[in-house]
Amino acid sequence: MAGTMLSIGECMVELMQAEGGLLRKGYAGDTFNAAYYARLFLPTDWTVGYCSAVGTDTISDEMLAFMAEKGIETASVRKIEGRTPGLYMIHLKDGERSFSYWRSASAARLLADDPDHLRRATESADLILFSGITLAILSPDAVETLLAELRRAKAAGKRVVFDPNIRPRLWDDAERMRRTLTDGARAASLVMPSFDDEVTHFGDTSIAATIARYKALGVADVVVKDGEKGVTLAFEGPDISHVPATPVERVVDTTSAGDSFNGAFLSRLVTGDTPSEAAAFAARIAAGVIGHHGALVDKAKLVG
Ligand code: ADP
Repeated sequence: MAGTMLSIGECMVELMQAEGGLLRKGYAGDTFNAAYYARLFLPTDWTVGYCSAVGTDTISDEMLAFMAEKGIETASVRKIEGRTPGLYMIHLKDGERSFSYWRSASAARLLADDPDHLRRATESADLILFSGITLAILSPDAVETLLAELRRAKAAGKRVVFDPNIRPRLWDDAERMRRTLTDGARAASLVMPSFDDEVTHFGDTSIAATIARYKALGVADVVVKDGEKGVTLAFEGPDISHVPATPVERVVDTTSAGDSFNGAFLSRLVTGDTPSEAAAFAARIAAGVIGHHGALVDKAKLVG
């Protein structure tokens, strides 16, 4: 059955150290990475669109061309005169990665400033993904505009998926962060948190406590990711099940583990797999992703 997935958030320009002091340019961001992996594994009669904002400069055009080349529809990316995409640089020192960000005035921060644009983007979607990073970059008013649209989509029976993806550095106030993430979850029908973040920022003492907290907000389905310990699934009804991670011989780069899991999981869930089947597939894909360098790994390296 054909459908449309819409992922909402920020894609950034990525600069990575390469040979001879050169920098290699890429494009990545949590919700974009998830859209990339969903596109890899959804059937061709599904459309995958990205909802964001860029500028009108050359790098913005290049980013849009990159998205299109990966099969991602860009009709819902706003173009804002005078703005430019956010940028981050990956530094490698003695095998350890660190990051510098230039994103405080990125175009994507304005992605939810136009309610009509958001309405058009979400109206045609069957499956919508957003994250705590999407909310962190928006003004309080824009958060409200976005969440109002998502609540509307949820009420219309669409699957609205939220990954809290908690990044305290993006928030100036921990209390507002927790409140906004909680509001985000309320607007979703499926929440896909990472357990260690929930322990640190919400004080959960068990995976069951994380599940109970989200269910109490009116979230029908919860998938708690716990790295190499696998995932716990609590879909509608009282049953809770566990799906183990796929063992990885050598972890090369954990970037995008959670994003690839989300994209692969959703691609299978919406095309008829049970949640456990979809999670087993996503665990295999995430294991492949962390066995390779970079956020966006080629399909040929992931499926034999
Ligand atoms: P995030 O990257 O969002 O913090 P996790 O670390 O929980 O998310 O990882 C997401 C998924 O990636 C896990 O559910 C698991 O399938 C896979 N994964 C992560 N780390 C490992 C690992 N060390 N070995 C095998 N699989 C892993």
